[in-house]
Amino acid sequence: MTHNDVDVLTWTLKGAAGEPLENDQQLLNRRIAYDGGALLFQDYGVISVEPEQPGDKDVVLSCAVHGDETAPIEIVRDIIHAILRGEIKPVQRTLFLIANPAAISIGKRFVDMNMNRLFSGAHANGDTPEHHRAANLEHYVSSFYANAPVGERRRFHYDLHTAIRDSQYEKFAVYPFTHGAPYKKEQFTFLAECGVETLLLNQAPTTTFSYYSARTHGADAFTVELGKVRPFGENDRSKFAAAERMFTALICERELCLPTFDPVRTKVYDVYRTINRTVENFTLHFPDDVANFTAFAKGELLATDGDTEYRVSQDGERIIFPNAKVALGQRALLTVVELPVEGLQLV
Ligand SMILES: [Zn+2]
Repeated sequence: MTHNDVDVLTWTLKGAAGEPLENDQQLLNRRIAYDGGALLFQDYGVISVEPEQPGDKDVVLSCAVHGDETAPIEIVRDIIHAILRGEIKPVQRTLFLIANPAAISIGKRFVDMNMNRLFSGAHANGDTPEHHRAANLEHYVSSFYANAPVGERRRFHYDLHTAIRDSQYEKFAVYPFTHGAPYKKEQFTFLAECGVETLLLNQAPTTTFSYYSARTHGADAFTVELGKVRPFGENDRSKFAAAERMFTALICERELCLPTFDPVRTKVYDVYRTINRTVENFTLHFPDDVANFTAFAKGELLATDGDTEYRVSQDGERIIFPNAKVALGQRALLTVVELPVEGLQLV
């Protein structure tokens, strides 16, 4: 039996909505062999790759933690379809996650809660479908890493996103807080080969999916921003070709051939300030369409939170992820400053 005509995204969305596809289109709990291994459809949007002779990497590729970020969903869907059609043959254990089907179905970032604030246990503080899904996703990631063959292994998790707004750097990745561990040159190079030549270093624990995998499972994990949000079918896939090629190579090659680390290739930014919205009366003092990583002059007013003013306090300070409409107590804006790569502890 062939499954060339099964669309894993339709299967995921219909199944998660309680309207599962029928008969041979129904993949739940099925194993479908490819030449060299099998795909296991564990749950709607949870698909693992089990090679017969797995390499030493365990790779998680997730998309749709934000439901309207379609390009990463198309990338993950097409990699799975390429495996089903026999066009690519993974040799590394891989877990594909389509994180928030309910949000995809309504074309929104989320239904009730921003899922990328619900990991590392934060899902226990609420009872929405997103809280439950985040708990389930942690469970699937845990068992995926736990069920790896014994021996020395390397864990990876790339959580793929696109951003709501334009960016001075179209592609960038967030490097979760390492708790003092050195940054990995190999990951700088891998991400640069994906077209991601800007890194933002987080300096504190967060409740993002990538921090969860980094902290709880020791994975090299990143939130990867691949471009701007567009509707399904309107993504210019040529802009994502390098990332697609590298993720495919990561799971299909036994040893990835990467160029030598080049310290001038990647720009690194450090979080300088986190500005939270604490009251209803919160305003950002720049236009809605200002791009991520835009630099502001020293002294300029960025935000007012009630009576508190936030002004640029350092030349070269840039804004990122502004969102005045976040829930009270959440982050409304980050500012970042560039950091010389030579100053970082690298391994
Ligand atoms: Zn996102």
